Amino acid sequence: MARTDNRRAATPAEAVQLETLRTASVPPRQAEFAGSLINQASGGLTTRQWWWVGELARQVSGEESAPAITNVGSVKGIVDLLDRAKAHLKYPALLVRANDRHIRLNIAGSSAQAPGTINVCSAVRDNAGQRRWYGRITVEGEYEPSRRIEPAMQTAIATALAAMASDPAKAASEYGRLTGHCCFCTLPLTDPRSTAVGYGKICARNYDLPWGTPK
Ligand SMILES: [Zn+2]
Repeated sequence: MARTDNRRAATPAEAVQLETLRTASVPPRQAEFAGSLINQASGGLTTRQWWWVGELARQVSGEESAPAITNVGSVKGIVDLLDRAKAHLKYPALLVRANDRHIRLNIAGSSAQAPGTINVCSAVRDNAGQRRWYGRITVEGEYEPSRRIEPAMQTAIATALAAMASDPAKAASEYGRLTGHCCFCTLPLTDPRSTAVGYGKICARNYDLPWGTPK
């Protein structure tokens, strides 16, 4: 068709919009259309297509500004807890519950996008072996939710993180009592002394927490 004749290169503003679209997380229902525009763009787009690039870029940008960053309080306690276990474990992590989902916290390693922050992921891996990423907590205690998490879940996670931040050992115990599983290693708690504190003997040693002694 003669359509290709109407194709033209991006104006500077359109180039910025294209870049926005290229780097943003586009909602699934628009991903195919956006991908097609991005793929064709190097050969030029029609004015109408460029308008769509701008429109989609605006939509994804609007979505990007939506997640509310919540301050969950000082996360020093969580960081200390995970750091202590580094002497014993390669990948220290602990679980919290939010909206009946198990959320896994670990310190992002040196090769991560934001080293030293607390990674917030699903405890469970999907069929591809991936954990769902729920966001991160900065050292300042700011929970930055993933843009792909629905607002209600963001709020639930922020609440759970705040509880964990204010008293990590208490939250760990509550997780264990609530689920019957250790919040550090996920194994079922069988020993009454483990059930009493909410985590197992070995994890208590690894994370330097009290175990088997009356409070
Ligand atoms: Zn354990």
